Amino acid sequence: VKLFEFYARFCAKYALEVIVCFMTMVVGAVTLNLSSPYELCHWASNCAESVDESQVSSDVVLLTVLRCGTIIYIYMQLKKIWKIRSACVVGIVCAYTVFAVMTFSITLVHFLRKDLVIVGSALPVFLLLIDITRMVVLTKHCLSTSSVDLLQDYIAEGMGALTPVLTLDTLTELLVLINIGGFVQVRQLQQLSCFACLSVIINYIVFTTFVPACLSVLLTLLNKTKTNEDEIYSRPSCLQNEKSKLDHIFTRRVKILLCSALVGLHWFKSFFTFSNDSMQSSFDSVFTLTPEQLFTVTLIIILGSKYLLDDGYEIVSRFRRRSESLIVSSTTPVSTCDVKSSHKTSYSAVETYATSSLRTPEECMNLLKVGSDLVTDAEIIALVEKKKIPLYKLETVLQDANRGVAIRRKILKTTVIDKSRIEAFNHIPHTGYDFTTATKACCENTVGYVAVPLGLVGPLKLDNQNYMIPMATTEGTLLASTNRGLKVLHLSGGVTASIYGDGMTRAPVVEFPSAEQACRISNWLQDSYNFTLVRDKFEATSRFAKLKRLTPAVSGRLLFIRFTATTGDAMGMNMLSKGVENALRWMCEQFPDMKVLSLSGNFCTDKKPSAVNWIQGRGKSVVCEAVIPAKVVKDVLRTNIATLTHLNRCKNHIGSAMSGSIGGFNAHAANIVTAMFIATGQDPAQNVVSSNCITTLEEISCPQIGDTTSHTALHITCTMPSLEVATVGGGTALEPQKACLNLLGVAGSSAPNTKPGTNACQLAKLICGTVLAGELSLLSALASGELVQSHMRHNRLSRYPQTQETE
Ligand code: NAP
Repeated sequence: VKLFEFYARFCAKYALEVIVCFMTMVVGAVTLNLSSPYELCHWASNCAESVDESQVSSDVVLLTVLRCGTIIYIYMQLKKIWKIRSACVVGIVCAYTVFAVMTFSITLVHFLRKDLVIVGSALPVFLLLIDITRMVVLTKHCLSTSSVDLLQDYIAEGMGALTPVLTLDTLTELLVLINIGGFVQVRQLQQLSCFACLSVIINYIVFTTFVPACLSVLLTLLNKTKTNEDEIYSRPSCLQNEKSKLDHIFTRRVKILLCSALVGLHWFKSFFTFSNDSMQSSFDSVFTLTPEQLFTVTLIIILGSKYLLDDGYEIVSRFRRRSESLIVSSTTPVSTCDVKSSHKTSYSAVETYATSSLRTPEECMNLLKVGSDLVTDAEIIALVEKKKIPLYKLETVLQDANRGVAIRRKILKTTVIDKSRIEAFNHIPHTGYDFTTATKACCENTVGYVAVPLGLVGPLKLDNQNYMIPMATTEGTLLASTNRGLKVLHLSGGVTASIYGDGMTRAPVVEFPSAEQACRISNWLQDSYNFTLVRDKFEATSRFAKLKRLTPAVSGRLLFIRFTATTGDAMGMNMLSKGVENALRWMCEQFPDMKVLSLSGNFCTDKKPSAVNWIQGRGKSVVCEAVIPAKVVKDVLRTNIATLTHLNRCKNHIGSAMSGSIGGFNAHAANIVTAMFIATGQDPAQNVVSSNCITTLEEISCPQIGDTTSHTALHITCTMPSLEVATVGGGTALEPQKACLNLLGVAGSSAPNTKPGTNACQLAKLICGTVLAGELSLLSALASGELVQSHMRHNRLSRYPQTQETE
């Protein structure tokens, strides 16, 4: 069963590839001539009686290359069509291809040979030359009609735009192929060019006659006009856009020149053949042209005139564009009086191209449905001005975050930001950054980014594994100091980390008519059966949120219900909010007197100092410990154990108690927490609660193996009860932040065979381990009196006197 499932999934996943391979095998099998595989026909349609060995092998090579090329080409075309995601387009293109192949095969068999073997050799050539792009453009154009009644007009308009280019292309291809067939003396090439000529002619006839008829019938039968699926297409834009790609002025000129040269070549050839007889007849022949020569001369004249006309048209339109832009720039007033007036004139100043050339808002809105690249920046700005697009929605409407940010900058610069501040605004970087994820999940109204320096410290030896720790900060000394702590830990055998609690919290506040009712519901919630009822409602909203406990707290008529749940690898605030909302909705049905005042009643407590988190924990609760030999303390930290333990007690415990601190029984845990939070895409505001930490230092005896003398060591721990961390969701999805998580080996969801949340717990351990290093280093700097000195060394710009002078 598994094998069949796997096979089916594979086929569904690589659908296009499977279809192409399958078709190739079928066509290959059908066209393989097993009885006389190398029988190939001549350019003049006669099959040779006998073919020598070398010719046979070269034929096989050529055919193989051709078939491989055809398969690749068809695959690419299929991929392109697949991207359109329209069943109608795919269906019509397939119908067109099948019909064209049929016509080609019948013509081939009828005119060149009497059996089907020839189709095998000729089909790859035909498929290589079939014009699917034009077919798709035309179908898309026709699908954009709003009514079946207009279908014929749309078909006519589409054909009118596409056929002239196709005619020129067909002519060019035919001339080139006839020349190859006529001049080259290689048998295979002659034969291939013969097939190619026929393919080009069939393609042209089918496209110009069958296609309009087929489109008209199919689209009328299907009643397929502008539906949701085909909303993506809009009439003029789609056609113009594609047509301009097909009909580029430069390529058109090259084609015309090529045709003229080839026609000229024929003319001269026939002229000199004719004039071999005598000089006199040669002279006469210039004036008395044969019908063939007359035809070629006419063709040259037509092509030459088209070339000149194209050239003239290009010069005239370029001149017109230039004069238009000159007129606009000279008539655009720059007003600085008030925001409103500068608002009105601003974008014409920003966009150098004429505002008069902007299309109407309705037209632009329609074009936006097809593709935002069809609408200019100036037009988008005008749409924002006219309130057709909200400023904050630019990225969504354009489906292009970076362009959205760039346009927002232009608008803000010319409308809101004071002129005297524009220089400052210009210094906010916005290039070299992919805003796609950021604008979707992390930041609205984006105008750029603020770069924060990132450093690596380490290795941190945690549970016998080494990690390089990323820290983003603007505080000089922080990384140097942490690194010193990490060095000490490394020399001492590393850190051991343990998780002793895991649960994100959200505590809504609900109100009852009486305190008695509030108490009754509080008791009801503590019943284990009732807990399961609430839990079911809560857990219905997420695959990862698992409710662990409910902690009610009563204050008069108010009831605070603290929901605690594990949240996998996500930090869990959104997850908790969603679950709590669902549970409350159900509770309101059970207790009609209950009134939800707020989803968050501050008993959670998120992003504010509070004792509840310190005591009960929030997020991950972690403890790290290490034992530092006295010698390492003395050699690296330049202090001793007794001084350090005394300092820790006086400063981190008594000092913090004196200040009324909650959870601040440490030297600078917040420094490391915040730097690692920024580097790894955590919610930076959660450093308030996450930095809760108590650091303990003790002197312990540490006997060495085989040594009778007693050695002392420093036992250090950091206990952090409320680390709110994630490896999924929020800023962890941003590329650089994700890279930092990857550096630590904890990005994204935990491995499938591990418990959900393993990655997030590991990140919490790494943060706590690094905090421990920071504590050790800072306490030592304070104990040895080096703090100010090292800050002066690492934290002042005067480290770079020459830079200061030059600036
Ligand atoms: P989230 O990105 O809103 O939700 C996590 C999503 O990831 C869920 O859809 C979850 O699936 C999915 N997921 C996939 N694999 C997962 C895994 N292994 N473990 C966990 N989830 C996994 O993240 P959140 O942590 O709930 O919320 C964090 C965001 O909330 C941050 O952007 C933060 O700034 C913001 N925030 C919100 C509030 C608030 O009050 N709402 C407060 C502070 C911060 P399911 O859909 O199955 O759950």
